[in-house]
Amino acid sequence: MSQTAKSTLVLGGGFTGLFTALHLSHKNYSNSITLIDRNDRFSFNPMMYEYLSGEMSDEQVYPRYLDLLEGSGVKFIQDSVDSIDLSKRYVKLASNLNYTYENLVLALGSVGSYFGVEGAKEHTFLFRTGEQAVKLRRHLRECLQLASQTEDKVKRHQLLTVAIVGAGASGVELAATLADLLPIWYKDLGGNIEEIRIILINRSSEILKSSNQSKNGSNSIQDTAIKALNNRTIPVEFLFGASVTQVCKNSLEYNQNEQIQHISAATIAWTAGVTANPLIANLDVSEEYKTKRGYLLVKPTMQLPEYSEVFAGGDCALNNQEDLPQTAQVAYQEGKAIADNLIALAGGKKLSEADVSLRGTLLKLGLGESVANLFDRYQIKGKLGHTIRETTYLTLLPTPIHNFKATTGWLIDEIFEQNSNVA
Ligand SMILES: Cc1cc2nc3c(=O)[nH]c(=O)nc-3n(C[C@H](O)[C@H](O)[C@H](O)COP(=O)(O)OP(=O)(O)OC[C@H]3O[C@@H](n4cnc5c(N)ncnc54)[C@H](O)[C@@H]3O)c2cc1C
Repeated sequence: MSQTAKSTLVLGGGFTGLFTALHLSHKNYSNSITLIDRNDRFSFNPMMYEYLSGEMSDEQVYPRYLDLLEGSGVKFIQDSVDSIDLSKRYVKLASNLNYTYENLVLALGSVGSYFGVEGAKEHTFLFRTGEQAVKLRRHLRECLQLASQTEDKVKRHQLLTVAIVGAGASGVELAATLADLLPIWYKDLGGNIEEIRIILINRSSEILKSSNQSKNGSNSIQDTAIKALNNRTIPVEFLFGASVTQVCKNSLEYNQNEQIQHISAATIAWTAGVTANPLIANLDVSEEYKTKRGYLLVKPTMQLPEYSEVFAGGDCALNNQEDLPQTAQVAYQEGKAIADNLIALAGGKKLSEADVSLRGTLLKLGLGESVANLFDRYQIKGKLGHTIRETTYLTLLPTPIHNFKATTGWLIDEIFEQNSNVA
């Protein structure tokens, strides 16, 4: 068993875990820090669309942990966490390595949920990591190449049809990106772009359900998104009130108004939902400190109520006091709050409540087009919205520790303030 005295283990190197480790290192935290993730690279999810389209590179939005953490003193282990025993303070990895800890940070995020739809896991593409973005890009390029060479009209239409299941933020952003991107790729191959179809499928008739509405009476972000999806190079088709019931290779079945229908599509992307990471849902924590779906309910200090040495944040936890969305902007702020409290704990000081502020919603609505719903009051669309979104995320991209910015906070607050009079 590998064991370190006064060790802090961070499980999961996403927005919460990576930012916890970076802050601890930056503040010269006295305990040893070990960060464990099953992947060797950090996925900067909000910019995965730019990675898919080739607008951004590996180093920018899908960097290696070893590069990011070089010289930081944080030990990185690439491995899968198999089990966590909170009462014995013991973590077992897939490689059979075991770790004990003095403090633990649970930052394992959430996992995609298929709602029991037959064939969905086997025949759809997820879009949650850099690796999945690469896989989808390769597949799409292959489909376009095949389509450009096939005389069989039915086969060509199947190759040129993309169905995206789920019209939350990820589904909408993916649809908007592909509706501009695929025509560019297909035109380069000499294909007829009019034959491309992008279909957005949603169970309810409302898109972006979890995004807040503007409070100033202007168009809602939903209206803006629908308009933008209609205005892409290839207008996105909407199939709402449709429940996907089965997915097979190259086709899906759905139920709309009690009618079973089918779509033939060589690409089916699944963005329909998330659920608690099974490792988190199965933790030995009293039922009252978990939600029905298995997310952890933490104290305002981000500690587990029954284990004060354990912190949890981001998508795997809900701060008991607040109803915060599962977003990167919440996750990294919670990561910073956890780091500050670990430092306080090590110094015998009083812990503080996490102070998470929501700056609004930023959505990519096509190549070069976005909407920024600042503080959910001011909506900035089109190219300026795009600039705000890009600048915001570029400022947040984690850089190797030797370039670490004084704060990874929303330095962009200034831009937000400058633009709050624009709308
Ligand atoms: C395509 C996409 C676009 C998004 N766009 C935005 C956006 O524009 N704005 C925004 O605010 N939010 C966005 N989000 C949401 C945001 O990415 C998440 O809310 C955020 O990543 C949550 O951070 P986290 O640290 O809790 O989890 P994650 O970032 O998911 O990190 C969890 C980490 O745990 C690791 N892990 C999980 N299980 C194990 C295991 N068993 N062993 C080892 N490692 C494990 C994973 O590899 C991962 O690195 C987007 C999400 C997606 C998928």
